[in-house]
Amino acid sequence: MNAPRGTNDILPPLSLKWQYIEEVARELMASYNYQEIRTPIFEYTELFQRSIGETTDVVEKEMYTFTDKSGRSITLRPEGTAGIVRSYLENKLYGQAQPVKLYYIGPMFRYERPQAGRFRQFHQFGVEVFGSNDPALDAEVIILGVDYLKKLGLEKLDVYINSIGCPACRGEYFKELKAYLNQYREELCQDCQSRIDRNPMRVLDCKEKGCKEISLDAPSILDYLCPDCREHFDQVQEYLSFLNIDYTIDARMVRGLDYYTNTVFEIKYRGLGAQDTVLAGGRYNGLTEEIGGRSIPGIGFAAGMERLLLTLEKEQVKLPESPELDLFIVTIGDQARKEALKYLYLLRHKGYKAEIDYLARNMKSQLKTADRLQAKYAIILGEDELAQGKAIVRDMETGDQQEMVLENILQENFRKE
Ligand code: ATP
Ligand code: MG
Repeated sequence: MNAPRGTNDILPPLSLKWQYIEEVARELMASYNYQEIRTPIFEYTELFQRSIGETTDVVEKEMYTFTDKSGRSITLRPEGTAGIVRSYLENKLYGQAQPVKLYYIGPMFRYERPQAGRFRQFHQFGVEVFGSNDPALDAEVIILGVDYLKKLGLEKLDVYINSIGCPACRGEYFKELKAYLNQYREELCQDCQSRIDRNPMRVLDCKEKGCKEISLDAPSILDYLCPDCREHFDQVQEYLSFLNIDYTIDARMVRGLDYYTNTVFEIKYRGLGAQDTVLAGGRYNGLTEEIGGRSIPGIGFAAGMERLLLTLEKEQVKLPESPELDLFIVTIGDQARKEALKYLYLLRHKGYKAEIDYLARNMKSQLKTADRLQAKYAIILGEDELAQGKAIVRDMETGDQQEMVLENILQENFRKE
């Protein structure tokens, strides 16, 4: 039996690296005052259709959708925002002090063609903020993304930003964009030909080479922003500049999900190849209404954890790679082993990472195991030692051995720098 295509088993010790990048995220979240939210990994299909948008790649081609035993259409979440917006409304979080600042870490599912940095089950760390349209918050969310990547030790970041306005800005713009795209109708891919009329901005996000080239000279929404959206975008830039965040305006970036309004952004990693966007997001002021709630502004981003780990590996950033045991208790004889078990638990209760042999190995191979597990010390407990109430403590690095009164072991400091 094989795991489904596009999925990964995250085995130890690789799981240590995952824990590490998650831990860095959690610590950062605490200092920025974001709290964790956990929503179901499946939702009613309609939620994603209404929020992500019918003409997006995600909804058109990539969702894992099935009918459950009661005949309801269920979809494994392809992204985190929709479920969180649903939860915010359903649980009336708008009744709490605003803005509500949330984060999540978890698996997402998209039926895509698996390749480097692209999987069918992948993981995202993301944030969502509700209840404020302050451009300083747009800046905070972008800075948070940059901070996270820098905290992980990544430096070669390029921040791209754009504004895709609000529905009011889009009337005139869509007319112009459609006229432009219609000139090249024949050269666009099948999907994009039908997108021209249904949702022309989607064409700008198409991954097909031909469509990408045509998009390069398409009219930009930046030239059509209404005064409010213009002012908002100007202020976001002002905050970013004031706070010394380098960015580039990408006037044709629209992102892959329909719910975005105003600020959109991506952080790319230089030299990563085709899948170089490690973190992306934007504002979604119309989304709560789209799924049937009151109008509440929101903004967020998501970072792809697999891509982060690939980047960290590529940059040879040092990450934890073994569990680093403090102690391994080596025993000789049944009596000693029994006594050792008691000490094993007492030492573990003191917070030491401690292990013992479970395969009836002889002393030599127990020491070998201690070495393989990278234990810093071995505590050797033989029949003779036990009879005298003593044990031998061996520094596994230097090989130095020292006899110790058994009971004193509990007072000893085995932590090594
Ligand atoms: P892409 O343009 O690479 O398909 P996207 O626009 O679909 O990305 P988002 O939906 O914005 O991506 O998700 C945010 C981040 O999640 C991406 O920047 C990427 O790092 C990661 N991501 C998205 N899809 C996948 C996938 N199939 N496998 C691994 N990571 C992914
Ligand atoms: Mg995609």
